[in-house]
Amino acid sequence: MSALTYRYVAMTDVGLRRTNNEDSGFAGTRLLAIADGMGGAAAGELASSTALNTLRRLEDGFDGDALDALEGAVTAANDRLAEAIADDPAVEGMGTTIEAMLWDGEKLAVAHLGDSRAYRLRGTTLTQISTDHTFVQSLVDEGRLTADEARQHPHRSLLLRALLGRDDNAPDLSWIQPQQGDRYLLCSDGLSDMVTDDKIEQALRAETIDLAATELVTLALEHGGVDNVTVVLAEFVAADAEPDPDLVCADGRPQLVGAAAEQPRPPTGHAVTPAAAPVDEEELRYASRPPGRRRRFKLVLGLVIVLAVIAGGGYAGYAWTQAQYYVSADGDQVAIYRGVDVDLPGISLSKVDERTTVQVASLPTYNQRLVRDGLPAENRADAQNIVAELTALSTPATNPTPTPSATGAPTAGTPSPKQSSTAAPDKD
Ligand code: CA
Repeated sequence: MSALTYRYVAMTDVGLRRTNNEDSGFAGTRLLAIADGMGGAAAGELASSTALNTLRRLEDGFDGDALDALEGAVTAANDRLAEAIADDPAVEGMGTTIEAMLWDGEKLAVAHLGDSRAYRLRGTTLTQISTDHTFVQSLVDEGRLTADEARQHPHRSLLLRALLGRDDNAPDLSWIQPQQGDRYLLCSDGLSDMVTDDKIEQALRAETIDLAATELVTLALEHGGVDNVTVVLAEFVAADAEPDPDLVCADGRPQLVGAAAEQPRPPTGHAVTPAAAPVDEEELRYASRPPGRRRRFKLVLGLVIVLAVIAGGGYAGYAWTQAQYYVSADGDQVAIYRGVDVDLPGISLSKVDERTTVQVASLPTYNQRLVRDGLPAENRADAQNIVAELTALSTPATNPTPTPSATGAPTAGTPSPKQSSTAAPDKD
């Protein structure tokens, strides 16, 4: 077997719906890696950049076995997350996926944790190398869902494992033997949720990996771009192949993209709008309580408790779920739910606590999606505050295009703290 080397490229895009990028990506001569942070806004960025900045020290070299080195780096990244969470309780619940490959000159060591993915294109055959650590994947494995059904499943993002700064979430570790001509893709779910494997395969067959990366990110945006999208690509070539001066990697320098490439920012755990980024008015309205904050963690925690309930009939676990609140849609209307927003076959862990008169369709599109996804609340009063904010954003169905009035009455899309909510607590 002739000696191999690889060409590489990393690319990211914040997507069409988000104002911050919680993904981090790295491509260098030894290491390829992606981290997709979670925990809401700044916490997700902190998680993914902390993990990736720890992993990328491997690019400077490592001693001994590549798989041992990679496992050690993931453990170190987990330790850094635990320290960051201990330092600042505001970021508790943050976490990140890991998809990483380390080249020892002959083969690739692979670490996988979460729902970021690794694919290989060999010839014309695309193979998904990683197995998602998600609830829906476990149903697929049991034959209870097809892969297509899993793609559409409302809880496809429910993770069973991620890097959370805890001791109980180890990565999958494996070796890969690349062949000349192989192309490898590491991607965040912002690509794989938006784009089918068939389309990924087509894009990966582009003339160069730089073109393929551009095509993949473009496809994710064309298919909705609802999440941050990050791709890292590598193409294996003969070690003595002529370099292609047109490729980004021709300068031999590593490429760092996404959250890890941005200026460090204070780990406050609160939404931070990057100064250079356009301000998203709708997101700012939720600045005190960033949309989606802690949701995935809550789902992970919720699932653990659900499994405990199933396994042991544990009342304490059930009681915990019933102390949780969130705001979501009940048919066409906004409602406050009590319980955990986890939908398991045959098991309901939430019920409508209070139905409001706010029509989901009366909300701005962005907020409709947030409601459909479910907005976690700290408690019942917080849920009522969320409803009050949504009420202020809603457009009355009878008057879809109101004109601003001179009386000072609130108009659609103009939130007013004084505007009453149908779900506001009664005054004494
Ligand atoms: Ca993502």
